[in-house]
Amino acid sequence: MKDHELFERISIINVKNKLNLSELYSRGDTIFVKCPFCKSEKGRMKLIISNNSYICDNCGERGYAIGLYAKCKYLTNKQAYKELIYSKANMTNNFMTPSVINEKRSNDDLDIVYNAFLNLLTINEDHISSLQKLGFSIEEIKKYGFKSIPNNDETKINICKKLIKEGYNLEKIPGFFQDTMFRWNFSSHKGIFVPVINNCKIIGIRIHLDETYNVDTTDIWFSSSNKYNGAKMNNNIMIMLPEEERLHLMNEEQSKRNVIIASEMLLAYKIKNKYKDKIVIAIPNVISNDEIKKLETLKGIDNVFIVSIVFL
Ligand SMILES: [Zn+2]
Repeated sequence: MKDHELFERISIINVKNKLNLSELYSRGDTIFVKCPFCKSEKGRMKLIISNNSYICDNCGERGYAIGLYAKCKYLTNKQAYKELIYSKANMTNNFMTPSVINEKRSNDDLDIVYNAFLNLLTINEDHISSLQKLGFSIEEIKKYGFKSIPNNDETKINICKKLIKEGYNLEKIPGFFQDTMFRWNFSSHKGIFVPVINNCKIIGIRIHLDETYNVDTTDIWFSSSNKYNGAKMNNNIMIMLPEEERLHLMNEEQSKRNVIIASEMLLAYKIKNKYKDKIVIAIPNVISNDEIKKLETLKGIDNVFIVSIVFL
């Protein structure tokens, strides 16, 4: 199974189909369905494709894809994950808006630029000590390539200049954009860059924020949608296989193996350190912190196991 298949299985579109929620119409990156909770005539539930969330304007029910499935089927979140991950996705939808088609560059291009970019960055003492508090050693911090995010515009513009001088094309690479004076720059926040790797390639960069700005947002994507020559980052997942193996995930035999699902990238790295022989899958933005609080902890891993950011 490829990454995108796994991602489809836990997407809000698959959940919509598995729950038989009928589509009323779609707009932007949102599909409107009849709300399964309030069921009222005016009850319209929005399914937001870009971040796999849902919210009903009438009754206020809200959350993420897995939680919606669990709630409607009277399952725990863990059972919901299991059901969704082990059955084929149905991605049927009447979604008409082409605006969500991502124009970002190929994963190969992203890998090349992100590698060069992260190589130009360093990590500061504060971030090293906060990562150490989360259980990472200095060697691991180095090995995984965690970096502090520069926030000074001049520094950022200079980093971009350097990349361009070395021959890297920043166009449509999520995170990078041109400012009003057509200078290349990149999106920044106070926090740490966490490389997101699949099949040995950096396919995205996740940002672990120094300070969370709402209950559900501790980490965000390095992205530059709606900016000149920028691009939107997909909501990627990261699959970490046992070190010596490059087996494909979940064929017959592997479906019986333990899979640990982490709700954040940084957490996945941490889990991977400890459980080297397990498959760890980081899946951000499919479950809310409220839903996460109801999840089980790591004791007695069995088949699918879910860990959440609260354990970070
Ligand atoms: Zn409702």
